[in-house]
Amino acid sequence: MKIAEFLKECRESEIEFIDFRFTDIKGTWHHVTYDIDSIDEDTFKNGLPFDGSSIPAWQPINESDMILMPDLEVGTHFIDPFTADPTMVVFCDVLNTDYTPYEKCPRSIAKQAQKHLEESGIADTAFFGAENEFFVFENVKIRDQINSQCYWVDTPEGEWNADNIEDYEYNTGHRPGTKGGYFPVPPVDSMMDLRAEMVKVLKEVGLETFVVHHEVAQGQGEIGVKFGTLVEAADNVQKLKYVVKMVAHLNGKTATFMPKPLYGDNGNGMHTHQSLWKDGKNLFYKKGEYGNLSDIARWYIGGIFHHAHAVAALTNASTNSYKRLIPGFEAPSILTFSSRNRSASCRIPFGSGEKSTRIEMRFPDSSANPYLAFAAMLMAGLDGIKNKYEPVGPMDIDLFELTLDEIREKGIKQLPHTLREALEALIADHEFLKPVFTEDFIQTYQHYKFETQVWPDEARPTAYEF
Ligand code: GLU
Ligand code: MG
Ligand code: MG
Repeated sequence: MKIAEFLKECRESEIEFIDFRFTDIKGTWHHVTYDIDSIDEDTFKNGLPFDGSSIPAWQPINESDMILMPDLEVGTHFIDPFTADPTMVVFCDVLNTDYTPYEKCPRSIAKQAQKHLEESGIADTAFFGAENEFFVFENVKIRDQINSQCYWVDTPEGEWNADNIEDYEYNTGHRPGTKGGYFPVPPVDSMMDLRAEMVKVLKEVGLETFVVHHEVAQGQGEIGVKFGTLVEAADNVQKLKYVVKMVAHLNGKTATFMPKPLYGDNGNGMHTHQSLWKDGKNLFYKKGEYGNLSDIARWYIGGIFHHAHAVAALTNASTNSYKRLIPGFEAPSILTFSSRNRSASCRIPFGSGEKSTRIEMRFPDSSANPYLAFAAMLMAGLDGIKNKYEPVGPMDIDLFELTLDEIREKGIKQLPHTLREALEALIADHEFLKPVFTEDFIQTYQHYKFETQVWPDEARPTAYEF
């Protein structure tokens, strides 16, 4: 969109403030607000100065001046539905003072990944669609929820049994039991109106939604959002998280996208649907092949699996992520693909025609920064296409039933078991990321994650250990 056109739109909507937003390494959204009267076309051409040293893992104090460059091209700006005064939110990229993209700006990295795809000649567009599952907790119950994790180890049988716990902890009438949320009508589903409110606000901010439902776990929800290009889809994840959290908050509740908040029940995934297109043709589609998948699609999966341990450091970016990736909860633990199979790391969704053929990577979760996660999967997939990496599979069995011996016999690789494992893999294997992620970024990222996630977690006794 042209700057003049945008400013005209702001005037017509009687906008009073412009809120400039950018995303840090962790995926957190930051903002700075300007009175509309202080904004003109030059603001959009020259960008805005800010202090890059106050953002975690970014600039040293002696090089802290950075530029926020508003981006009207992708077209994801929106009127903030939650502010008292009309405020337009604009996505920004972070630039160095010489106007080159900042190597630690995730959105700039995502743009580089798109550019790399175009230059590769393999495809001109990558589409991504994320499913960010979430929980909504009653504010007063959060401590109960956390405490209940401790009770679970005390069951007489010596094993978890959430239903038993609930029997003596809570009134279980009209509540979904463990894994009982998919999807009884109200009053068992008590989140229907809340989700509807979220959907209405999501529409207001420009997201196209479709399926809206209670998910399998207690208090878990999901709102399907239409796919987009890599940067668009990542912008949409930021919007979705903002809206879901804000609507819950304004209703006196707390929403969380944390991968595994409750022991013994399903966790929150960020399943990521992906396809590559060239000249308006879906490169993943080949009629008659398994799942109607082309060689390119299979090799793309092969690339992600080949680099999965390193990729996981960016797609499953918290210590908590790995508590989700265990058998039995619809989240994958082993690296294979399969049509219609929710126990595999990669599912080929049912009913794929030429337009809708795509792969669904099921291991990512919302603790990832979406810009980095999508860029990393794209780079691994492209490397797979270049090297014709064949993924293990298809395996159409219930993979959660496989014993460790069988997994070994069949030679299937598993996802990493800890963030430490994933980060160590990232250090050992990141050549495939190099065209868009700099060495300095990789080093900073892994250091930041060790400092803020791995070491603090490893140093703490847990309830279970007691
Ligand atoms: N909540 C599950 C997960 O952790 C996924 C359930 C589904 O298939 O939507 O990935
Ligand atoms: Mg789901
Ligand atoms: Mg899914």
